[in-house]
Amino acid sequence: MEFDTLIHNAVLLTCNPAFEIIPGGWLGVRGGRIAAMGHESENGRRPAARETLDACGGIVMPGLINTHGHLPMTLFRGLADDLPLEVWLADHIFPAERAVLHPESIRWATLLACAEMALSGTTTCCDGYFHETAVAEAVHASGLRAVLGQGVIDQPAPGVPDPTHNIATARDFCRNWRARGGTIRPSVFCHSPYACCRETLVSSKRLCDEFGLLFQIHAAETRWENEHIRKLQGMSPIRLLDRAGVLDEHTLLAHGVWVDDEDIAIIAARRAKISHNPESNMKLASGVAPVTRMLAAGITVGLGTDGCASNNDLDLFAAMDTAAKLHKVMNHDPTVLPAETVIRMATIDGARALGLAGEIGSLETGKQADLIILETRVPHLTPLHHPASAIVYAAKGSDVRTVMVGGRFLVRNREVLSVDVPDVMDHVQRISQALIAELRRKV
Ligand SMILES: [Zn+2]
Repeated sequence: MEFDTLIHNAVLLTCNPAFEIIPGGWLGVRGGRIAAMGHESENGRRPAARETLDACGGIVMPGLINTHGHLPMTLFRGLADDLPLEVWLADHIFPAERAVLHPESIRWATLLACAEMALSGTTTCCDGYFHETAVAEAVHASGLRAVLGQGVIDQPAPGVPDPTHNIATARDFCRNWRARGGTIRPSVFCHSPYACCRETLVSSKRLCDEFGLLFQIHAAETRWENEHIRKLQGMSPIRLLDRAGVLDEHTLLAHGVWVDDEDIAIIAARRAKISHNPESNMKLASGVAPVTRMLAAGITVGLGTDGCASNNDLDLFAAMDTAAKLHKVMNHDPTVLPAETVIRMATIDGARALGLAGEIGSLETGKQADLIILETRVPHLTPLHHPASAIVYAAKGSDVRTVMVGGRFLVRNREVLSVDVPDVMDHVQRISQALIAELRRKV
């Protein structure tokens, strides 16, 4: 039976358990899934397909998986930098959010994020924000795959002015998007152990369990959070979450910077997952998550960018490069976090962190055809001794030429097919100008 699409003349970087790399390979897609893979035969004959795409010797790999972010925060890219986290949040981000966040602005900002992610090889993202229905509509329109969490916090928030309605709002969101199925999976995103009381945490987790969804939360991100919770509760943020009963294999902890050995043992025992966001943690000077110790303890660690206001881009190639180097210098050991480990974090381990490893994260027969094609005939990727090394230490998001999600092309030859990118940029530019005017008016 012929394939819908055949990609040939490719270096297949599979991210399968053996981390197999197939030079001179082909990959066939049928019904949105990877139907078969193989080596180019010597006689040049190829399997039949309705459409054939020459990868021109480039790398074909699983689409990258961004395990943590706040997509609409593209609106605040570069608005306020080089500030301590508390000042940055209280004096800049929260006022900006109050001034400009409504479903329409969130829709445009999310479309911008999706275009940026698609153009830099991300095919699945995990988000937590407010007005999440608007986020979900935009991500759905872009064709990206996503786990999207309605934000829950014990204070008035965009779209949820009365925090006593936060769980009901999350419930409506989860019910609606679960019923729709497809590439969007709903989730609940509790802001943090300091901004959500025990009752909020427990109700949110219960809601996730009821629907079989991922529970997300920022945890142990900053020194301030660690000290604040220890002072108030007499225990670490991780222990507090464990006592509340919200840590299990369907829990994703964003950051985990301020964790000690006991916290790491708890996370490992509960099989909770970590989203590591090195660039955000570095930019806000939050600290360095002990990723090597987490991996040694058997914890699944995915990679994330965090929101655009604290990074300031959504390029996971940059995050891979940074992660690999950050932990080498922290540990004074160039052998830690080798390229292969970092690529796993950005692909199959990211999929595990989101509970989607059966469907995405590697090029394996039967999985969703979520893949990217990198052009390697460029000076900075020549010669191509080791594809994994090239991806982590030399490649950039802009080397991604083609992106497919569920067998559908979202990007071809660096053109986003699902989003009118110039129009989206114009809208976001206009919204950001209105934001600046509004913030000036209030000063
Ligand atoms: Zn975050």
